Amino acid sequence: MEFWLDLNEEQQDLREWVHGFAESVIRPAAAEWDEREETPWPVLQEAAKIGLYGFEFLVNTWSDTSGLSLPVANEELFWGDGGIGMAISGTSLAVAAIYGSGTPDQLVEWVPQCFGDAGDPKVAAFCSTEPEAGSDVASMRTRAVYHEATDEWVLSGQKAYATNGGIANVHVVTASVDPSLGSRGQAAFIVPPGTKGLAGTKKLKKLGLRASHTADVFLDDVRVPGSCLLGGKETLDRRLAKAREGQRATKQAAMRTFELSRPAVGAQAIGIARAAYEYALEYAKTRVQFGRPIIENQAIAFALADMRMEIDAARLLVWRAAWMGRSDRPFTAGEGSMSKLKAGEVAVAVTEKAVQILGGAGYLRDHPVERMFRDAKIYTIFEGTSEIQRLVIARAISGMQIR
Ligand SMILES: Cc1cc2nc3c(=O)[nH]c(=O)nc-3n(C[C@H](O)[C@H](O)[C@H](O)COP(=O)(O)OP(=O)(O)OC[C@H]3O[C@@H](n4cnc5c(N)ncnc54)[C@H](O)[C@@H]3O)c2cc1C
Repeated sequence: MEFWLDLNEEQQDLREWVHGFAESVIRPAAAEWDEREETPWPVLQEAAKIGLYGFEFLVNTWSDTSGLSLPVANEELFWGDGGIGMAISGTSLAVAAIYGSGTPDQLVEWVPQCFGDAGDPKVAAFCSTEPEAGSDVASMRTRAVYHEATDEWVLSGQKAYATNGGIANVHVVTASVDPSLGSRGQAAFIVPPGTKGLAGTKKLKKLGLRASHTADVFLDDVRVPGSCLLGGKETLDRRLAKAREGQRATKQAAMRTFELSRPAVGAQAIGIARAAYEYALEYAKTRVQFGRPIIENQAIAFALADMRMEIDAARLLVWRAAWMGRSDRPFTAGEGSMSKLKAGEVAVAVTEKAVQILGGAGYLRDHPVERMFRDAKIYTIFEGTSEIQRLVIARAISGMQIR
């Protein structure tokens, strides 16, 4: 039995390739797009040209049997910049939903439309959160009603904080088809480009990730063909029948889907944390006070030692969860949640410390740690808040309904 943590040659090449793009294209553009608070279309186009933005890239990373390629790529991308990283990665939320629940035909039809092409890149949105259903996904109010005569689904409701909401070519929208079943009575639908009745609000003004578009989305009598139900009607009917019989299997499958996606999000947070740590380390070596570089003070050097240790610890949790997911290990202790929780909290703590190490300079926009500090905070909030991750872990380790 062998054990090692070295990346193989392909993974190392991937890391270098993404790192190169992050360093030469993303970083130089980061401050500008943060300031403009706009989707960085030219950067998306560059990423699409080299094959970093598109389904092929996702399939290549998803198909790595160790599970490490996606976290490795995400860490480098977000090391470049959180906001641009999210502008590039936001589409993958919708694609993952199509990949996870769609039929092969739906995959072939919709995924290319999510990305567009290098000449005319597009984005996609995954709209699940609602004003009254954030952490409490089961209380979703958006309804989907099937009209048999026309073989259409009619969607009505309001979605909140959707990445790429309103500007997406393809929206994947979750809705309740049977509210009495809570989260087990929900399904996901494709809303094709140009569908009447879907409208996004103007871009929401955010603390961080400002290059990434976030908006609320209104669905007013949105009619989509029956074929837009992800997975198809037969699968849905079977799932609903199981849920009505009270079987827990469907709920557990949904939990596993969340657990699977969490390490990839954790890796994004680690990328931001590592960028801030590296910047602070270099600054501490060159900034002189009291006649010596500030790093010669233990208070600063030990802070940097802790930052590095926490980043490495978070990465190990992320890699473990990614590997567990890809090799079908059961998440018996909420290991997916652990990875995202730890990485998110490390990103917030490390970027805050980086600002502190730079002193007044850290508080100014002249240095990137100010932006990294703002970008990091979202990682204790979206894709399940830190409290919700703790709830998942607590329930998993206790087997009890902790509230
Ligand atoms: C920039 C950004 C991008 C986003 N992108 C998307 C997207 O693309 N698609 C999408 O669907 N959503 C998206 N979201 C939404 C995001 O996932 C939610 O904001 C998040 O799930 C939290 O929901 P909420 O904001 O309603 O907070 P709430 O659920 O109202 O939580 C408020 C506070 O209460 C705490 N809390 C709630 N319930 C409990 C409990 N049982 N025990 C202890 N504490 C609890 C929470 O942890 C939190 O601290 C995005 C959000 C942001 C800000």
